[in-house]
Amino acid sequence: MVLILSDMDGVVWRGSRIIKENAEWLREAMESGVRVIFVTNNSTRSRRVYAERLSNALGIGVGVESVITSGYATAVWLRRRYGPSRTVVVGEEGLVEEMVLQGHLVLNPYDPVRCPVDFVVVGMDRGLNYAKLAAAHEAIRRCGATLIATNPDTTYPVEDGDHPGAGSVLAFLRTSTGQEPAAIIGKPHEPIAEVAVPSRDYGDVIIIGDRCDTDIEWGRRLGARTVLVLTGLTKSPGACKADTVVKTLKDLEIPTP
Ligand SMILES: [Mg+2]
Repeated sequence: MVLILSDMDGVVWRGSRIIKENAEWLREAMESGVRVIFVTNNSTRSRRVYAERLSNALGIGVGVESVITSGYATAVWLRRRYGPSRTVVVGEEGLVEEMVLQGHLVLNPYDPVRCPVDFVVVGMDRGLNYAKLAAAHEAIRRCGATLIATNPDTTYPVEDGDHPGAGSVLAFLRTSTGQEPAAIIGKPHEPIAEVAVPSRDYGDVIIIGDRCDTDIEWGRRLGARTVLVLTGLTKSPGACKADTVVKTLKDLEIPTP
């Protein structure tokens, strides 16, 4: 069986604009029976929100089971390894929602930090402020909490360039606490693959993405077939070692399920 793991930002859409050729190709692949799972390092929104957005963009029902965010993967990975945990989260609503759904306790960063705290989980946070960083810092220094990063992306693409991403928040806490993250969950790292690839029944895994350092590198580490699509961040393949490079997914043959 074939499994496609497709990125979203730069593949299905760019900002609020849907990339029509790619969206059509993905819908056709799904209609022909190919299993497609959408994987993003973005932890700010929940799977539920992405599933709705994907259903609208592709014009075909996409269920939450077909969506993996680094926030969801972090919550599942922590639960499987350590069980429900007490956490301080530096991140947005989508990350907090996934943590709570997996049974973790998310402490209010505006309350005084009460030990024990098992983990500090870091994602991109557009509502970032000193109080949240101080709570995370204190949980690590005073309570001995372990630092976990949802993803390593230092920047996040926006219409006119980029803004700071989860990796930049992580850099702050690494500097202030002197602690390195015990795990980085998102692409190109392994943990998100543990959650995204449901079984070993898939003979052939194809990874589609627009970023060489995350999507394509992830595929290389997993031993999957990689497809770089030039509709997003990367405008020319350069030194990227993708197996296939296409302008849009329309240039790619739909695999046999
Ligand atoms: Mg992307």
